[in-house]
Amino acid sequence: MPAPFTLPFIKKEQIAKETYSFYFDKTKNPDYSFKPGQYTRVTLPITPTDDKGSFRYFTTCSSPLENYLLISTKISDDATKVSDFKKYFSNLQVGQKVQFFGPMGGFLLPEEDLTPRVLLAGGIGITPFHSMLTFAAKKQLQMPLTLFVSFSTVAELIFLEELQKCKQQNQNINVIYTISHPENSSWQGETGRISEELIKKYVQDLSKPIFMVAGPPPMVDGTVEMLQKIGIEEEKIKVDHFTGY
Ligand SMILES: Cc1cc2nc3c(=O)[nH]c(=O)nc-3n(C[C@H](O)[C@H](O)[C@H](O)COP(=O)(O)OP(=O)(O)OC[C@H]3O[C@@H](n4cnc5c(N)ncnc54)[C@H](O)[C@@H]3O)c2cc1C
Repeated sequence: MPAPFTLPFIKKEQIAKETYSFYFDKTKNPDYSFKPGQYTRVTLPITPTDDKGSFRYFTTCSSPLENYLLISTKISDDATKVSDFKKYFSNLQVGQKVQFFGPMGGFLLPEEDLTPRVLLAGGIGITPFHSMLTFAAKKQLQMPLTLFVSFSTVAELIFLEELQKCKQQNQNINVIYTISHPENSSWQGETGRISEELIKKYVQDLSKPIFMVAGPPPMVDGTVEMLQKIGIEEEKIKVDHFTGY
């Protein structure tokens, strides 16, 4: 059952261009349990001047097996494009207690179900899959998991090293990053958006997997449309809309 709880803030790290990870100390609330793919509501003690309110929903980006709770989010370098919520969130003080409510959400990876999963993310939509893959690597889950994630530029990509490690730890995991604007970089991997061709290159039989799509709504809707065009049945497509982007 979701419930309110607080956790102290530990640290903030910049992990890519305009992208930050925020760590909270889960050991201070050891009873809090969630599943990979779930999210929480974060409420800050602010009276916002914008009309977006004092709370946001964030996916728990870390695995439940870690002793910290991780939130990763975009924060523009241009202060005029940053909400009051994110301005305050960026300036949390070490040890400050933050108000959460959770866990919520049914975008999950049933551990016992061996049906292959194709995970599709645009940018920050990688967060639920980071939780799932780091969990699946440690737990040696047997279901085949193939992640496709696209970023606009190399400067924006996140979690590449961590997820490649997951792939080395568990041979059921495959991870494919694609960059839509690789110009002026030394990127050697896949390029362009996630497409039918790219999926078919790595997934032999498209009739078997369940497809899970996460990210800002326009990315999710575009990807679902592409999956339907290539004949994936609706009941085999699960989505996680990051409403608010
Ligand atoms: C179930 C769920 C899970 C979520 N998980 C996450 C998560 O793990 N990480 C995360 O960052 N967010 C997540 N979100 C979205 C999050 O709740 C915020 O809505 C989002 O981060 C935007 O924050 P902001 O309103 O403070 O705006 P800011 O990020 O400060 O942006 C200011 C304005 O610019 C616009 N904007 C900024 N970036 C973009 C963009 N890429 N595309 C279009 N418009 C943009 C925003 O709409 C906003 O109006 C999730 C939402 C839901 C419902």
